[in-house]
Amino acid sequence: GLADRLQNTLQKIRGKGKVNEADVKEMMREVRLALLEADVNFKVVKDFVKKVSERAVGQEVLKSLTPGQQVVKVVNDELTALMGGEQSKIAVSNKPPTVIMMVGLQGAGKTTTTGKLANHLRKKQNRKPLLAAADIYRPAAIKQLETLGKQLDFPVFQMGDQVSPVKIAESAIAKAKEEHHDYVLIDTAGRLHIDETLMDELKQVKETAKPDEIFLVVDAMTGQDAVNVAESFNEALGITGVILTKLDGDTRGGAALSIKAVTGLPIKFVGLGEKMDALEAFHPDRMASRILGMGDMLTLIEKAQSSVDEDKARDLQKKMRDMSFTFDDFLDQMGQVRNLGPLDEVLGMLPGANKMKGLKNVQIDEKQIGHVEAIIRSMTLNEREQPEIINASRKRRIAKGSGRSVQEVNRLIKQFEDMKKMMKQMSGMMNGKKKKGGFK
Ligand code: GDP
Ligand code: MG
Repeated sequence: GLADRLQNTLQKIRGKGKVNEADVKEMMREVRLALLEADVNFKVVKDFVKKVSERAVGQEVLKSLTPGQQVVKVVNDELTALMGGEQSKIAVSNKPPTVIMMVGLQGAGKTTTTGKLANHLRKKQNRKPLLAAADIYRPAAIKQLETLGKQLDFPVFQMGDQVSPVKIAESAIAKAKEEHHDYVLIDTAGRLHIDETLMDELKQVKETAKPDEIFLVVDAMTGQDAVNVAESFNEALGITGVILTKLDGDTRGGAALSIKAVTGLPIKFVGLGEKMDALEAFHPDRMASRILGMGDMLTLIEKAQSSVDEDKARDLQKKMRDMSFTFDDFLDQMGQVRNLGPLDEVLGMLPGANKMKGLKNVQIDEKQIGHVEAIIRSMTLNEREQPEIINASRKRRIAKGSGRSVQEVNRLIKQFEDMKKMMKQMSGMMNGKKKKGGFK
């Protein structure tokens, strides 16, 4: 994928004590190919390569003490700039309800995202949205929204499939006023391709509903097509923001990198799964460093500096370097990391975390942390320091002692090993060079 290719390319230059034009040229050739292969718009790639190349041979790099890393930073900066500023604020009308219209092609994820967005509005902003089912064409579309509404405990407004979407939108808004909903999310119909009938109908809904936001939902897996779709919808309707779905899938990343540059439209949210909580505000800087495999290292380090004991942090770094990190440190660190924020978020920030299949699907919650702690506390000191001695009978004993299952014990040991690998990688990055036999 894009991330792998860019990471490999940048890995080569990162450790260099000196960077000359030939190095940069070689690097940029690979960066360019990686971007094109990821289906990033050709013109966007061209501009990007030009900008990075200029900066990479400029004074800021030459004069720096660590030119290799500086080049990586330039790439990171420019990728961030490409994706625009942070834009996840949702409009608030001073005459409630605030109306949000969801548009896009069929299958892009409009209905799902309508549910996710309502969930987001309630969770993050304490809002009380009403969902409106205005897709009268797709069989079972109304039912789908109703099911989501029931699951999330949101009311869903519908008038069956014999009433026009315009009328449905209008009535939903009236109803929201009556019942004091502060947001109305209108789920509309899509087509497999952009066509005039679809656009005309959406235009009519827009005229009547006067939405405060028109969110275009696009499937990230469609690459450059997503960009074309965004242009057409924007021309016809005036989109206020893009929500990029299915970024959890095996996407090539092209859409995320091209949309803003080509259309000028900000990506506001990204969908990262089918579940209702799999919607995240889009942070260009985080996305860039995720692509470059740096996780949110910088954010994490900044955060860590403010909330982690400095001596402990230094100690930890040394342990990471020596690979003498034990389950006891793990316990200790969990306590500290907890102060940084929700754990899954924190782990998501760690470099390489996105590559670790084991980690990706683990929803880490506080209860689970309790379980993990129980398991580690049931280990002997020796076991904590040398997990490799934990054989089957020890596992059974630990499971019994902690009141957890042997599978959970196994899983934790596996996670611990993964984490150790990750730390090794992280410490490699901190040193700015790759050790022989180190991480791939
Ligand atoms: P609509 O036709 O635009 O309303 O699309 P739907 O909301 O019905 O979604 C189409 C399919 O995409 C469904 O199976 C969704 O579960 C799935 N989907 C939507 N968003 C995401 C996402 O962010 N990630 C993944 N993996 N699947 C998604
Ligand atoms: Mg739908």
